[in-house]
Amino acid sequence: MSAYSIWVMEYAYVINQPTGLFIYGANNQGYRKMPYCYIVIKGQGRSMMVDVGYNHEAYGKVLAAQYGVENWHSPTDVLAEIGLQPAEITTVFQTHAHFDHMGNIEGFPNATFYIQQRELEKWVWTMSLERRFRWLMLGIDPADIMRLVDLARQGRLVCVDGDRENVVPGIDLRAAFDTHTWGSMYVAVRNDLAAQSDDAWVFSGDLVYCHENLRGTDPADPQYVPIGLATGSQFGLIMTSEDMVTRAGGDYRRVIPGHEERLRDLYPSRIAATGLRITELALADGESSRVR
Ligand SMILES: [Zn+2]
Repeated sequence: MSAYSIWVMEYAYVINQPTGLFIYGANNQGYRKMPYCYIVIKGQGRSMMVDVGYNHEAYGKVLAAQYGVENWHSPTDVLAEIGLQPAEITTVFQTHAHFDHMGNIEGFPNATFYIQQRELEKWVWTMSLERRFRWLMLGIDPADIMRLVDLARQGRLVCVDGDRENVVPGIDLRAAFDTHTWGSMYVAVRNDLAAQSDDAWVFSGDLVYCHENLRGTDPADPQYVPIGLATGSQFGLIMTSEDMVTRAGGDYRRVIPGHEERLRDLYPSRIAATGLRITELALADGESSRVR
């Protein structure tokens, strides 16, 4: 049985992202497309997301222009392709606070957000540092941190400290402290709801950007190679990569990075009229495909 339908929803992209951001090391020349995506998980009476993208207004728009982001569409437009509205989303698992993952909190007015307590606390601390430390704030919109605090005021924020299993049935939150960010986490879905799952998916956030982070560039001799942006340590990213692949049943293809364009080569997908891709990873029992 499959408890949940799972879709990777592209909501914008960067056409020419330097390869050195995806894969650590000065030898990585050239550019590749970087899709910006969030994940929708629907089933068991719930509609949930991993991350929420950004809002193309105010400082979110400024950051997007800096990074060369194109073709942004609202969650209303993006979710309509799978028959959902943003107001129906009940639960958001926030992998980390970078603007392209957390910049659209206001787009989901009925959702409760889960984030690592460390992620919230350490970004507040980072905001308090003097100007010469501003590299640490790369990719952060301070207004997003304020919106996160406001979620707490509204009773819609759950601060998780470390791992939390079965946060909803079959879904586990796994902390990866001091890696890509201070308090990153990844989301593991056991889609058969079994404790030892034969149908596991891992949603990496930015703990990996692409499959080379899990495989290296030589298929005959795989290795872990970290991404090119870490607030924390490369060691932490490498060890978290091992954890994620293990929890995905040893199959790197079931570790899903939202910034990996080549998911289209592994799973059914289609391009919507917006020019944005919808990738279908799983269908809950009784659900019909949104890509065929
Ligand atoms: Zn990030």
